Amino acid sequence: MLNFDIYDALDKEPDEEWISRLAERIAKVIATRIGEFKRSKELRLSMIGRCKRYIWYHAKGYEPEPLHPAVRLKFLFGDIIEQLLIGLIELSGHEVTDCQKEVELNGIKGHIDCLIDGQLYDIKSVSSRSFEKFVRGLLHRDDPFGYYAQLAAYAEALGMEPAGWIIMDKQLGHVAVVEAKYEYLPNAKEIVNELKQIVQQDDPPERPYEPVPEGKSGNMKLPTECSYCAYKWHCWADANNGFGPRVFLYSKGPVFLVKVVKEPNVKEITQQCKNGV
Ligand code: SF4
Repeated sequence: MLNFDIYDALDKEPDEEWISRLAERIAKVIATRIGEFKRSKELRLSMIGRCKRYIWYHAKGYEPEPLHPAVRLKFLFGDIIEQLLIGLIELSGHEVTDCQKEVELNGIKGHIDCLIDGQLYDIKSVSSRSFEKFVRGLLHRDDPFGYYAQLAAYAEALGMEPAGWIIMDKQLGHVAVVEAKYEYLPNAKEIVNELKQIVQQDDPPERPYEPVPEGKSGNMKLPTECSYCAYKWHCWADANNGFGPRVFLYSKGPVFLVKVVKEPNVKEITQQCKNGV
């Protein structure tokens, strides 16, 4: 099994060539993530499974929420983990090819992570909670980043069937190989065509999510998908009678309230969140 091979690779003696190749790839991802952070308005295959309203804001050039440096570091750390995994897969004796190969589906471009022994896998570094969801086969029920659609798009672009994901729990170091279930793979060409129409529209599509209660106070908050979204300030600008979301720092982390019936007894950090500090 590939995941046990990855663990076994930790006991192998890497040669100079392997070390240089890994160092070069890691240096490349670090160089890409450090420096001025630019977001492109371009639609990419990696995004096609996301909220359609998110795609509309993205394509129309709306200013996304500034990323806190800690979030940028987290993304960089995730990229490094993914390169490390690819390196360990190579070291374990599997053939890794087509790293970062550009693919295209109905005019929309993307880059695959790699093929492993000729099979299409996407490599992901994930939280412990997300790892659990992957290994229990529940991704199709809660897939806010659209991993199934992303994999389907790469597979359709390459004209092959996808194998699945190789994931690592970035908190605990657990690795798993998760098979993509064919019944949950969407038709990526249809999604791409629909998105191309959506981004031509003057108005965004309807919000697909509803606010959820925050405890029993009557206060309502953004659902998880929206609280992580870079366009939430635009999307929920009508919340709180036109003020927009208000952010309160609870011990469990920030909560984005869209209706405040009872003022929370914790610090409000709305402005800091809007400024990304
Ligand atoms: S805030 Fe929620 S509904 Fe709005 S674009 Fe983001 S994910 Fe979609």
